[in-house]
Amino acid sequence: MLYNYSGVLHIHTKYSDGSADFKGIARAARRSGAKFIIINDHDTLQGLYKEGEQYLNGVLFLIGSEVTPKRNHFLCYDIRSVPDKHLQPSEYAKDVYNQGGFGFLAHPDQKENPLFPAKMHWENWDLDVPYGVELWNYFSQWMGSFRTRRGLLKSFLFPKFCLTPPESQTLLRWDELGKTRTVPAIAGVDAHGGRQLGWLPNTLCSYLYQFKTLRTHVVCENPLKGILNEDRNTILSALKKGCCYLVNHLAGKVEYFSFYLQDNERHWQMGDEVSHKPGLTLKVKLPVKAHLKIIKDGRIISQSTSRTLQLTNPGPGVYRVEVYKGKFWPRPWIFSNHIYLRA
Ligand SMILES: [Zn+2]
Ligand SMILES: [Zn+2]
Repeated sequence: MLYNYSGVLHIHTKYSDGSADFKGIARAARRSGAKFIIINDHDTLQGLYKEGEQYLNGVLFLIGSEVTPKRNHFLCYDIRSVPDKHLQPSEYAKDVYNQGGFGFLAHPDQKENPLFPAKMHWENWDLDVPYGVELWNYFSQWMGSFRTRRGLLKSFLFPKFCLTPPESQTLLRWDELGKTRTVPAIAGVDAHGGRQLGWLPNTLCSYLYQFKTLRTHVVCENPLKGILNEDRNTILSALKKGCCYLVNHLAGKVEYFSFYLQDNERHWQMGDEVSHKPGLTLKVKLPVKAHLKIIKDGRIISQSTSRTLQLTNPGPGVYRVEVYKGKFWPRPWIFSNHIYLRA
């Protein structure tokens, strides 16, 4: 039996430039229904040193950091000291892995916005460590959804309809990298909170609202037990391996989603690398009917509007799934991690 837990990643608190402390964030996390959250304050682990990882309000609080020079932001997990942001990106990424941690390129293809000019993308993807990718970042997608003041107002008032799929450039690079190694992907919200602006809907500045946007759902063999160290391991190992999928909760909550490879004897999950052999089948299952696409090496090879889709005897390749919801205005809903079928 597999278990599926929904979490919110990439959150900033008062320890850097966020507006709430742990207690405030715990309240929002509990109300949002998240089972775990991960804090990534800019260039600090003060939250870890002063308050520690813990269950707060029934939500598992884990703490990493975001190395934040002008560009090349790097989300780090399972570390004890913050890498020096003045180093070259390859060096601070290496520091994370030397500490036994792991990391993700943060908002690697964030678009420049003429109203808020800042280049925040990742420049050189050629690193010596097995980094992962923050494939979908709520704040970046929102910032990329307008170019003018009128567009800004529209995106502020109707953020639900502004959430576009992950950047196509990032998807392309991620699929390409997957041909040579496993590359885990996560979704982050990049939540900072903020003050309510008059009568305007509190969409951009509310932790609660943002916690209900992009989620990373981990899939694990063991249930969470309420024991900090064990549950921390369960969540972090799933993220590190890429045994997780990304969900736009604004398009609909997801109780379960499965994408796996099987033969007569066993199943393999997202993040698994499997040697190709005859008799394999790839299967996708959804809670409700939606538009499903199976992507192999960056190209759609099968699609249908249904609750299930399967592929018998898939050849060697890097496979993943995209799901879109809604008949007339399909909205990006679920993006899986890869299953790697090697020749
Ligand atoms: Zn950042
Ligand atoms: Zn951030």
